[in-house]
Amino acid sequence: MEDKTLFGYDLSGINNINEELVVELMGKVLSEDKAICKCQLCIEDIFALSLNKLKPLYVQSTFKETTFKDYDLTKILDREKITETIQEAIKRVSRHPHH
Ligand SMILES: [Zn+2]
Repeated sequence: MEDKTLFGYDLSGINNINEELVVELMGKVLSEDKAICKCQLCIEDIFALSLNKLKPLYVQSTFKETTFKDYDLTKILDREKITETIQEAIKRVSRHPHH
């Protein structure tokens, strides 16, 4: 992983929590559909495409617990919307795979 330090502070603990959710929900969607190609290239394409379509949500890992409480989670972590986004990405990658 690239170096993410600034003024001696390690910034690698600041992550897009949508990434975790996309990984989780992608696993669910992909395991339910046997027809989708699951090679590394297609999985990476679906992952990147989904994340590009979603608004990122960066959170400091140090404050992750408290930040979660402050947000209206049902609005931000809309699992249905993320699942739809993943399904759209899957359709696009299946139509035009990079192989
Ligand atoms: Zn593939």
